[in-house]
Amino acid sequence: MADPTGFLKYTHRELPKRRPVELRVRDWNEVYEDFDERIVRRQATRCMDCGIPFCHNGCPLGNLIPEWNDLVRRGRWRDAIERLHATNNFPDFTGRLCPAPCEPACVLGINQDPVTIKQIELEIIDRAFEEGWVRPLPPDRLTGKTVAVVGSGPAGLPPLSNPCRSQRDRLRARRPHRRPAALRDSRIQDGKASPQPPAGTDATGGHRISHQRQRRVDIAADQLRAEFDAVVLAGGATAWRELPIPGRELDGIHQAMEYLPWANRVQEGDDVLGPDGQPPITAKGKRVVIIGGGDTGADCLGTVHRQGAISVHQFEIMPRPPDTRAESTRGQPIP
Ligand code: SF4
Repeated sequence: MADPTGFLKYTHRELPKRRPVELRVRDWNEVYEDFDERIVRRQATRCMDCGIPFCHNGCPLGNLIPEWNDLVRRGRWRDAIERLHATNNFPDFTGRLCPAPCEPACVLGINQDPVTIKQIELEIIDRAFEEGWVRPLPPDRLTGKTVAVVGSGPAGLPPLSNPCRSQRDRLRARRPHRRPAALRDSRIQDGKASPQPPAGTDATGGHRISHQRQRRVDIAADQLRAEFDAVVLAGGATAWRELPIPGRELDGIHQAMEYLPWANRVQEGDDVLGPDGQPPITAKGKRVVIIGGGDTGADCLGTVHRQGAISVHQFEIMPRPPDTRAESTRGQPIP
């Protein structure tokens, strides 16, 4: 059970500091500095283990948040990763990339800053990797069913990971500056390093799959349906929405998906050509305008800075969100 007075002792939310801008734009490493373990445990102590934990309601995965918060408070990190992995195959991804709807849902957020749930999640999984607690989990027995998983991104790996955490192509998360390559690939290495790889699991990359027979494809969708008991479609949304306005055809105007995946491969050290067979687009020495301020726009922003753009302007249709929770969404003070 949680410390019943933790949120009264530690009223302030603390997060790791960001590395200085002039340093972090020169590399693709984590934006944040390391976080002192004592502070993480202090922050976990703020969790009230609510009778009705609304953080559960906010989390699409149903993560057992108060349970692992309390385990972190007590320093029981190994137990914490067991509870975290019970509902979440890849906290190393969600701890960095999830928009954390659990935090606006946190009951403590009604009249204080919410618990730093996402940061605690990240600290648990990072420690688990450091300690060597993240291991392949081969199944006890096979069901005899065959499953094809199409896609090797964050949506494609979970269906694969329960029977086997292996994959031969590298995961291409689109946010290299938020996740070091070594950590990103470690999930893939899991399977390769397994002394006892699960039987019947095969993972290959670089295939084109389509239901349109006239297109040049490696595998027809019908073939997958005929050969497997189930097919999971977990491909990324690499098709973009066209912008049919005058000037769209001019040189130097690119869609994000013509740019980001190749930029990631280049920073991984791959020698690749872009989708048109030419060297990949780079922002080095360019004046850049980014239209769009969502996740994709943010990824472009981080990438063009790291590639050495001369200047960057970003335009977003929505008003700038407040830096802190809007007053209109706070609870009323208790008389
Ligand atoms: S809602 Fe907040 S305080 Fe309550 S259990 Fe969840 S994380 Fe802890």
